[in-house]
Amino acid sequence: MSQQNVSRQDLPEQTEMHPTRWGDPARARPLPDEARGLVEMVFGVDDRPAVDEAPLAPPTVDAAALADLRAAVGDAHVRTDDATRRLRTRGKSTPDLLRARAGDLTDAPDVVVRPGDHDEVAAVLAVAAARHLAVVPFGGGTAVTGGLVARREGFGGVVSLDLVRMKRLLAVDHVSMTAVLEPGLRGPEAEALLAAEGLTLGHYPQSFEYATIGGFAATRSSGQSSAGYGRFDALVVGLTVATPVGRIDLGTAPASAAGPDLRQLFLGSEGTLGVLTAVTVRVRRLPAVKVYEGWRWPSFADGATAIRTLAQAGLLPTVVRLSDEAETAINLADPGAIGGAADAGCLMITGYEGEPAAVEAKQAAVTAVLTGLGGTPAGTAPGEKWAAGRFDAPYLRDSLLDAGVLVETLETATFWSNLDRLYTDVKAALTAHLGEPALVLCHISHVYETGCSLYFTVAATEGDEPLRRWQEAKSAACDAMIAAGATITHHHAVGWDHKPWYAQEIGPVGVSVMRAVKHALDPEGILNPGVLVP
Ligand SMILES: Cc1cc2nc3c(=O)[nH]c(=O)nc-3n(C[C@H](O)[C@H](O)[C@H](O)COP(=O)(O)OP(=O)(O)OC[C@H]3O[C@@H](n4cnc5c(N)ncnc54)[C@H](O)[C@@H]3O)c2cc1C
Repeated sequence: MSQQNVSRQDLPEQTEMHPTRWGDPARARPLPDEARGLVEMVFGVDDRPAVDEAPLAPPTVDAAALADLRAAVGDAHVRTDDATRRLRTRGKSTPDLLRARAGDLTDAPDVVVRPGDHDEVAAVLAVAAARHLAVVPFGGGTAVTGGLVARREGFGGVVSLDLVRMKRLLAVDHVSMTAVLEPGLRGPEAEALLAAEGLTLGHYPQSFEYATIGGFAATRSSGQSSAGYGRFDALVVGLTVATPVGRIDLGTAPASAAGPDLRQLFLGSEGTLGVLTAVTVRVRRLPAVKVYEGWRWPSFADGATAIRTLAQAGLLPTVVRLSDEAETAINLADPGAIGGAADAGCLMITGYEGEPAAVEAKQAAVTAVLTGLGGTPAGTAPGEKWAAGRFDAPYLRDSLLDAGVLVETLETATFWSNLDRLYTDVKAALTAHLGEPALVLCHISHVYETGCSLYFTVAATEGDEPLRRWQEAKSAACDAMIAAGATITHHHAVGWDHKPWYAQEIGPVGVSVMRAVKHALDPEGILNPGVLVP
């Protein structure tokens, strides 16, 4: 095993996200003229300027607690200024953006604390327990289900435990093909450090540019190449966690029969059970070739059958995505082109990454199956277009919010035999509650032998009360998911927003298990109070 200890200075300086928008402030752009014309036609443009620098309430943490926090991590790494607190307020769901754009920063932390290593994280937790402060672990801040909003009642203040300084590649094992990463590494930073070793993680969620290793593990994230590389929780081999009751190191072998797998307690724990301070991941060799292509299907059902056939034949490409008829027509994946052909059928994207011979063999085998099932090859252009714009859609959401159009996504998963029902029921719930004019689009992007996820995107007029409008529609969609026997979330996690449905999904015994585990690891209840645990 080689020890890397790559210094933080080797990474490019981190760009902060815009406080009320997605991503790099320099990449914000108005709606392209053509798109604005279409929005005018479908929804009517209703320009809505955002309040970018709303004032915050003064921090409530007392001087003695601040002094203890400074002793734990150093003076320079404890911040109470408005600009820093504003940037650590909530995540990037559309409700989060709507609140921030309206100047509502009531969930801002009182203090932002930046530990540099595991021991400093542990020291912050000790101070928080002693001073009864709520602690919100903060990775990339891309949460979309309220996982960064702690209940503040009953606490002496809220600490944002910002992992931005923990950005080292701690070790690489080229024999076992594993790497140990610190939690604050953003997706591109982790990939850059691994690429220098000839390796890749292959985890590319749409939030890749800003989300972090710790956040991926804490939310059980799933990337766009999950068919080839696996979901993030499947990539995790080991974890080091700082809990209020002590340190735990997990994952001593590739597989084990030593009781229940405790790593699973922390994967998806959303900062409520401990702070992930190191994540050991399975890595792959950097692919020599990447090929993306498109296929057309007469219907969503035909395309879904084709994907199921591939999955059950052990022939999944690295990337496989299928848009339904509405999403294919709108082509939301391309921010430059809101419009599309109304009779385009359904577009599937397939992608292959690896050594040339392996890519060629897999592509040939998949092509034979898809052709045999009635798919029409559309060449590499649609695949390349998707790959080029794969991280751009969140910028489009901001431009649409500016124009008075509410855009949000939600996701779920089920077994293949239940797919039709889930698709129909969630779509009907969203359509009924959003009213006219509204668009409800869907795609399949994460696939298994036994089933797949469904990812819905909606666009509707904001109206006078966009938050309430969305919450009613989302609530109806969540009811439909649970009624259909599906999961409340395939990869966005539970946070605050999904808690009522999570409780239904795991039942009363599951809820009591979660509460008992929470109590054992966090007896004072300081970690992300109100998040995840029903
Ligand atoms: C535009 C957009 C696109 C997205 N696309 C995808 C997608 O394709 N796939 C997908 O899976 N998700 C997606 N998401 C959701 C989000 O990016 C993921 O949930 C991501 O894993 C969060 O990582 P983060 O570093 O930003 O975590 P944060 O948002 O900072 O935190 C998320 C949760 O994890 C906790 N946490 C963070 N770091 C740690 C740690 N080290 N230890 C313990 N707890 C911690 C936080 O307290 C919080 O509860 C998207 C979000 C947006 C806004």
